[in-house]
Amino acid sequence: MNLPLVDQVIRSRRKTVAILVRPDGKVIVRAPLRLSREKILAFVQSKAGWIAARKAEAQEIQQQVAHRKRRFAEGETFPVLGREYPLRLAGGPKTGLWFSEGFVLNSENLPQAAALFERWYRAMARKILTERTRFYAQTFGLTYQKLRISSAQTRWGSCSSHGTLSFTWRLVMAPLEVVDYVVVHELAHLRHPNHSAAFWAEVARMMPDYKTHRDWLKKNGRFLTLQQA
Ligand SMILES: [Zn+2]
Repeated sequence: MNLPLVDQVIRSRRKTVAILVRPDGKVIVRAPLRLSREKILAFVQSKAGWIAARKAEAQEIQQQVAHRKRRFAEGETFPVLGREYPLRLAGGPKTGLWFSEGFVLNSENLPQAAALFERWYRAMARKILTERTRFYAQTFGLTYQKLRISSAQTRWGSCSSHGTLSFTWRLVMAPLEVVDYVVVHELAHLRHPNHSAAFWAEVARMMPDYKTHRDWLKKNGRFLTLQQA
């Protein structure tokens, strides 16, 4: 049965009609065994706006994810503090990966590209996070013991009961205000080792517009990765 807007109709012993837009953008309609084509069509038509919005959303997410899958190809861009920098592949005597207005990789080192990029980001993370943490700790009279750079995939930062602050190196892919939000968040844990109202009040005192940056991270965090295609 072909219906406009619909890729597949699955009939079963269900009582109601349901529309599903899959991550690949395909529209699936689940319908009762004997419901007429006209009734299904009318239902789908009544949801046309919703379907179009879900399809657009699915397509956008797919494009973003495809764009983020790393091939380490010439011209591919990599974010540093929220700005995208292109990769150039070079020959010559200089080996490895370096930064000169953008990333430059000796093409002989392509097989090690992921490890080289991670090493570069780690060094950058140590530098930036040490600087920012020192600055905020001094400004707000907080003392921490140690700063660690981790490879955490899902955690941006943490604060141990002994006062060790950990930050994942992936964080320096985000804009500086977002880096600062995570720094402020972990520093606030030195005073409140929980996510109580008092903790969030402390975060707001140090960074009044923290919600904008927290939301940015929620929305864009999954794209801050070197994950390979
Ligand atoms: Zn926290």
